[in-house]
Amino acid sequence: MIDVVLLPGRDKAARRRHPWVLSGAVARVQDAAESPQGAWSRVLSAEGETLGFGHYCPASQIRVRLLVFGKDPPDDALLVERIGHAVARRAADPLIGETDAVRLVNGEADGLPGLVVDRYRDVVVAKLGSAGMSVRRALLAGALREATSAPSGFERADPVAARREGVAAHQGVLWGAPEPRVSIRERGRRYLVDLVHGQKTGFYLDQRDSRDWVESLAAGRRVLDLFSYTGGFSVAAARAGAASLTVVESSADALALARENVAAAAQTPHATFFETDAFRFVRQDTGCYDLIVIDPPPLARRAGDVQRAARAHKDVLLFALRRAAPGALVFSFACSHAVDAKLLRQVAFAATLDAGRPAQVVRELGAPADHPVSLDHPEGVYLKGLLLRV
Ligand code: SAH
Repeated sequence: MIDVVLLPGRDKAARRRHPWVLSGAVARVQDAAESPQGAWSRVLSAEGETLGFGHYCPASQIRVRLLVFGKDPPDDALLVERIGHAVARRAADPLIGETDAVRLVNGEADGLPGLVVDRYRDVVVAKLGSAGMSVRRALLAGALREATSAPSGFERADPVAARREGVAAHQGVLWGAPEPRVSIRERGRRYLVDLVHGQKTGFYLDQRDSRDWVESLAAGRRVLDLFSYTGGFSVAAARAGAASLTVVESSADALALARENVAAAAQTPHATFFETDAFRFVRQDTGCYDLIVIDPPPLARRAGDVQRAARAHKDVLLFALRRAAPGALVFSFACSHAVDAKLLRQVAFAATLDAGRPAQVVRELGAPADHPVSLDHPEGVYLKGLLLRV
């Protein structure tokens, strides 16, 4: 086993059970094996006390991803056990509700840093986002197959993580013969999901609870869905009986699937689809809406981008508010970790002030129960939203 010895005074995070040992906290590495990529390592304080065990990655800023705190060395059976627990927790969770598309493993929150697994009906889709997980591909596939009894498994490449971790990006079948496109059913809503080319692992499972809100509020309303992807919110609005639907998305593939999904959801959708830049669209649009969803991609990839991201969030909300009818409902989301709930409120305040459209916060929104966050790992928070009433 590799020993990773921390610098004096740099043991606080590990003692607080934070799962990341950053490269700047490491004094030296002993007994690094010939191929240390992803190997088990023991993390020690400068004084030589064992703090925990995790997966070592010489290439990453996150030098060790801790899986265990304490003195007892683990082995790979721990991963199998944790996958079993994560899957069983979802199966027994009434908060997730009726759906055949669920996040089964949410990385650090499930004690499995670097691993994200979603199930889409018969297909389990995994992303191996750390060296530790990448070198255990076969073990993880076996454990997921066993825990889920799913007929097939597929791995989606994560090129950004692969570059960071110094491993080769890998995409392909894990077991069985997965269909590239799956039809899922989420609390009555049906969606086609492209598991091979779609964003994330194919679908934004994290917006499930907010889709419920849209579905319960959209009846009779003129709806604008900005950054629609494959029509997650539009389908909810169509099912609710929205008066009209305006769908805006820059990706042609995503918008094509949105058309299919909306068409299947309602007989007379009164839907118009725009393949365009939503930031520009909202400036030029002259429509009037009673329910607006603003769900942009992550606008701050790192802390240094926060001010620019806040301006972009404010801008799109400001112009959307000008298109809002009196009493309109506006869903405003941010999915960058760096744009936190407080900042999102400040952005909303500034936008309503500049637009001259005072608004109330009706609800704070976030990711559903299958996307838990570990209190030990606040970096796991990313999605937040506000439901505003103009
Ligand atoms: N609301 C969606 C998820 C949106 S993710 C759902 O619930 O499924 C953000 C989406 O914004 C992605 O589909 C991305 O392709 C799209 N996008 C990114 N930049 C854009 C832009 N400038 N204009 C319009 N769409 C954009």
